[in-house]
Amino acid sequence: MIAAAGSGERLGAGGPKALAPLAGRPMIEWSLEAMRAARSVGAIVVAIPPGESSVVSPQSSEGVVLVEGGASRSESVAAAMEKVETEYVVVHDAARPLVTAALVDAVVDDLAQDENCAAVVAAVPVSDTVKQVARGREVDRTLDRSSLWAAQTPQAFRAEVLREALASTKLLAQATDDAMLVERLGRTVLLHEAPGENVKVTTPLDLRLAELLLAERHNDERGGAE
Ligand code: C5P
Repeated sequence: MIAAAGSGERLGAGGPKALAPLAGRPMIEWSLEAMRAARSVGAIVVAIPPGESSVVSPQSSEGVVLVEGGASRSESVAAAMEKVETEYVVVHDAARPLVTAALVDAVVDDLAQDENCAAVVAAVPVSDTVKQVARGREVDRTLDRSSLWAAQTPQAFRAEVLREALASTKLLAQATDDAMLVERLGRTVLLHEAPGENVKVTTPLDLRLAELLLAERHNDERGGAE
């Protein structure tokens, strides 16, 4: 499932972020390509901004189910879950166009290998020192970096657990990822270390970085083919 129903206000692209041009294609096309190439993916559901079915181009929409998203990310995921019929589901943000098929398959494989595990989340160890603030910018404390990871997508779930987690809270709008809802149920969530390049595109600077990384990947592929 690809969450692509965001407005893209912080990017300032003047339309849905999923459609922002990135290395010659609308951003969402990169995630769709990775999902199609993943051996663990059999069907694709995309949450789109209401009334924006053009987010997925006619060439890319074959076999893709489109669902109108909600007011927040997790509400979009909840809407898309209604179309999911499989035992496992991978939730991915269109805002992470550098995802690879290998990473998608890796989170699904980790989940399938551990029956006690309810979800597997792509993540990277935090490299900055993280301060928690209390009032405005006054530092309350410094967190122990050795135990901090930044959660990303893709995130693989047992679909029944994700459904239960989404239904168990009225605070969907406050969830910044879906795994946190599964954690709240007391279920086991594991991390899978992602490559550093799986960046999230939020600001115009992120867009420039993603462009460079995709251009580099493209050059590597061409070099390999020669
Ligand atoms: O806004 P943010 O960058 O955190 O969004 C993460 C992902 O969630 C994006 O891919 C965005 O399209 C998606 N989203 C959504 N529905 C919303 C808000 C965000 O599918 N209402």
